[in-house]
Amino acid sequence: MNDIKVAVLGSEGVGKSALIVRFLTRRFIGEYASSSECIYRKRMSIDGKQLNLELYDPCSQPCEGKSTLNEQIHWADGFVVVYDISDRSSFLTAKAIVHLIRELHLGGSKRDADSVIFLVGNKQDLCHMREVDREEGQKLASEGRCQFYELSAAEHYQEVVLMFSKIVRNASLG
Ligand code: GDP
Repeated sequence: MNDIKVAVLGSEGVGKSALIVRFLTRRFIGEYASSSECIYRKRMSIDGKQLNLELYDPCSQPCEGKSTLNEQIHWADGFVVVYDISDRSSFLTAKAIVHLIRELHLGGSKRDADSVIFLVGNKQDLCHMREVDREEGQKLASEGRCQFYELSAAEHYQEVVLMFSKIVRNASLG
């Protein structure tokens, strides 16, 4: 059976755990207290094929720390890079992560980033506090050749499931 590894990366507080927990349990958990990195496992069927998904959540690990981030990038087959649309600094972190993934993971390869890097602007329900325009997200996605989503772990269960299902499918084809 295929093992597919997906790393969910981004600044602390952008909603990485909320997105993962929403996908795995349908629930939105307001405060998800986890202080160390974790790997969640789920058996899935995609296009009739069984696979084992491993989802990596750095939790409060400083994922900007280069060596740790490098290891995470080398480990994964697919990436969900998350920022918070109401927090500009998280967007700058996401930008740096996207560029690093392209350099380290896809360097020299002909594979298209847009199949394995998804850029996610989370907390769309907080659009009244928006600090990052949708167009900026789209621009970064096209520069980094990623697929782009704006969504809310709190309010968009279906979109969260579709997004994770798609990255798993794409990573399993790689
Ligand atoms: P992580 O550090 O990236 O794993 O972030 P968490 O998943 O721990 O979320 C940080 C905070 O943002 C928590 O208080 C969550 O309840 C909140 N949060 C996560 N996703 C959303 C969302 O889509 N909308 C809103 N309003 N809050 C969210």
